[in-house]
Amino acid sequence: MNSRHVLLISYPAQGHINPSLRFAQRLIHIGIDVTFATTVNVRRRMAKASSGDAPKGLTFATFSDGYDDGFKPSDDGKRYMSELKKSSSRTLKDIIVASSEQGRPVTCLVYTVLLPWAAEVAREVHVPCALLWIQPATVLVVYYYYFKGFEDEIKANSDNPSWKIQFPGLPYNFSKSDLPSFILPESAESYGFVLPSFKEQIEALDLETKPKVLVNNFDVLEPDALKSIENYVFIGIGPLIPPAFLTDGQVLLSDKSFGGDLFQKSDDYIEWLNSNPDSSVVYVSFGSLLNLPKSQMEEIAEGLLDSKKPFLWVIRANQDENEEDEKLSCMEELENLGKIVPWCSQLEVLTHKSLGCFITHCGWNSTLESLSCGVPMVAFPQWSDQGTNAKLIVDAWKVGVRVKVNENGVVESDEIRSCIEKVMGDGENGRELRENARKWKSLAREAMEEEGSSNKNLKAFLQEMGC
Ligand code: UDP
Repeated sequence: MNSRHVLLISYPAQGHINPSLRFAQRLIHIGIDVTFATTVNVRRRMAKASSGDAPKGLTFATFSDGYDDGFKPSDDGKRYMSELKKSSSRTLKDIIVASSEQGRPVTCLVYTVLLPWAAEVAREVHVPCALLWIQPATVLVVYYYYFKGFEDEIKANSDNPSWKIQFPGLPYNFSKSDLPSFILPESAESYGFVLPSFKEQIEALDLETKPKVLVNNFDVLEPDALKSIENYVFIGIGPLIPPAFLTDGQVLLSDKSFGGDLFQKSDDYIEWLNSNPDSSVVYVSFGSLLNLPKSQMEEIAEGLLDSKKPFLWVIRANQDENEEDEKLSCMEELENLGKIVPWCSQLEVLTHKSLGCFITHCGWNSTLESLSCGVPMVAFPQWSDQGTNAKLIVDAWKVGVRVKVNENGVVESDEIRSCIEKVMGDGENGRELRENARKWKSLAREAMEEEGSSNKNLKAFLQEMGC
């Protein structure tokens, strides 16, 4: 029986589950058993998309968060967080006790963002724990300083368009649009339930001496951020991407179960990608949560048509049953030039040789996946950490350009076309971006090699945890 057993819990959203499962895959590869605690809804969706059994070494523990049919945008966020806290805390405790009784005790508890109470459970039952931070370290650093004295300055200045702020240890000035949206005053009305969770997270880490924070990045990606909080031990262990996508070889089916198609399937786009020349396709996706307003979708459609480049565009069905999916006005022209799908296996797309550029909402997984596949980006951030990620894409790694938003909050078609041209065109800007994208692809892959920084960091962490 394996004496090394990690209990892993992730917030039940795709952008959290994907890196968590990929982390589980890395642990299993090292020879560690993983119990993955997740909600009934997530487990059901996964079971629907995949027919196979869970990989050896991985056990699922399912609990109900009270929303077995899924959390909808119209549901009450505050109530949801409170239900989630109650049911997941109980489940974590039960698993730890039961595992101990079965003679395979949990040797470490790892939890992701928005579940700060997991640290409390670990303390109560005397199991070592670590936070798996699934956004860039820079974002945690900004939250940290927000709660350590920067809150007033941000609140007082965020209406001033020329205002910029610098945080200790970070080498950039941040303007309002570069900051995580949840710390901005206007976010309070709709997402007021999110910030307290980050506050609770920082307070939970404050209770530990030198808390360990595993970060889905790698050492050379954010060298300053990884050192900028003296009390934290940041450990770069990414990019968390299934190994099959980090080599240029064939994607192995067994590894795909940890890939991007955990929840939904959609097929014939690979054939369509095959029919296009190398580096010619614009891939457009806004992740697993966002639904853009119709006016913005029309601008994107026009920008894509004007760019005259083949495109693959993921348009998900609207998750809110109160809102109807509206048809775009130029559907026929769009279908002649490109392909629209409700979902795709993003890593299969990003590793396809026909890919030329990714118009992305800059979710951290999408950003890191694009970077690791060497695909330059048009950054089109919306909320949460995405503005900060866009800042890093443009200013730190220089692998993309960022769209400009007009006074009504819309990105116009001309701007979209112009950004596509900048990234894919023959000008100096485009060449430099593509060269940087190739450089980061190779650095990302190096980090995950046997002797690479992320692999060594993870092994050292496990050893220190007695795992
Ligand atoms: N994804 C995918 N197919 C799609 C859109 C997204 O496989 O059509 C995956 C993508 O590869 C990434 C995750 O869903 O791993 C989205 O996470 P991200 O952090 O980029 O954004 P979020 O959905 O959390 O906003």
